[in-house]
Amino acid sequence: MLEVNGWRRRRRDAPLSGYQELCRELSGSGPGTFAELDSVGARSVLRRFSDAWFAAAKRRSAGDLSARFPRRRRGLVPVRWYHGTFTLDGRRVRIPTAKGTAPLWVRLARDVPYPAEQIRSVTLLCEGGRLFLDVTAEVPVAVYPPGQEPDPARVAGVDLGIIHPYAVAGPDGEGLLVSGRAIRAEHRMHLADTKARRRAVARRAPRPGQKGSRRWRQYRRRARLVEGRHRRRVRQAQHEAARSVVSWAVEQRVGVLHVGDPRGVLDIDAGRRHNLRLRQWQIGRLLQILTDKATLAGITVRLVDERGTSSTCPACHRRVPKPRGRTLSCPHCAFSGHRDLVAAASIATRVPGGGPTTPAAVVLPELVTHRRAGRHLPGAGRSRRDPRRPPRAARGSVGPRRPAPPPGGESLAPTARIHNTHRKPGER
Ligand SMILES: [Zn+2]
Repeated sequence: MLEVNGWRRRRRDAPLSGYQELCRELSGSGPGTFAELDSVGARSVLRRFSDAWFAAAKRRSAGDLSARFPRRRRGLVPVRWYHGTFTLDGRRVRIPTAKGTAPLWVRLARDVPYPAEQIRSVTLLCEGGRLFLDVTAEVPVAVYPPGQEPDPARVAGVDLGIIHPYAVAGPDGEGLLVSGRAIRAEHRMHLADTKARRRAVARRAPRPGQKGSRRWRQYRRRARLVEGRHRRRVRQAQHEAARSVVSWAVEQRVGVLHVGDPRGVLDIDAGRRHNLRLRQWQIGRLLQILTDKATLAGITVRLVDERGTSSTCPACHRRVPKPRGRTLSCPHCAFSGHRDLVAAASIATRVPGGGPTTPAAVVLPELVTHRRAGRHLPGAGRSRRDPRRPPRAARGSVGPRRPAPPPGGESLAPTARIHNTHRKPGER
């Protein structure tokens, strides 16, 4: 595909990017074009290429010129097979290959968690140096005994955040706060580890275009493994966070979750560059995971505008300056409450697709359940403190011992050396 498009580009022809025209090209090129991949697998590569192409085109037309069209060769591309093309036999999956070649048998490390007849597709993908089989299944929505099913009249508001991935305000003054400090610490420590590792091998790094050594390849492999593990850890923690929200909602018999969508406020899709912390937040994924789990539990998720919910006093509806900590205190009416829960309570009263037309009474949570996401992360113990932060001196102590300052206020720091020999005296 890349070669054909490179060739067309040199001939100043329009590139092939639509899925249909790529498929036509594939059937025209005959067997063997995609080596041992069968036509289903080959088409899934075409689909992925086409999607990446149009995503890049969309972002570029929105003004983001950093978006690149897919032109890089990839060793491994995720390939999907649909129901009917593969066979599942216990822990073995038979994946079809091109005519005349032996079929591909994939051995799984554990059983597929769904009955074979519910599985709609499998995707073979490589992530962080490991091979995965991604399974899509049709799963029935949960059924409840009468009187315990989610009540569509009971609405809870959900505020998405970084420190608390989910803050939920229920209809009876009950609330839920899911803490994401462990996830944040994992991000931070991972970044620190990566930087340290990079610094350690920087002088062995081959120059661009130079062939890498075996040691360098091993380092790259190790970096990929660590990266994959980090991603899996964060994803697991995000799933746990969403799971605790949905379990809580089921307990409260909440039938509808109003989720404040911060993407409009933050302008995420308009191609603005964001800082690392905001990129790591992964709002889209948090929303997707929550929606999937809620749907499965029979709870409806509705996205509402969250504008102003964390900066408006719920008691007197006046604007409050953005609080620095977690507590929102109103200077007009002396109201005070947890900022994220206040926002969640206001979000619960919002209507999807419109502003607060009939401002329903904001019910503030009085009884708050606390849950922590990422309990499995290394170092996350039972304490509430950030588990990976270095231990502080004990409370009430004078702190770590430091040498007394030298007399005369002289600094202990090494004296600065200034290299300005290339300048002539007096030159600025
Ligand atoms: Zn107020």
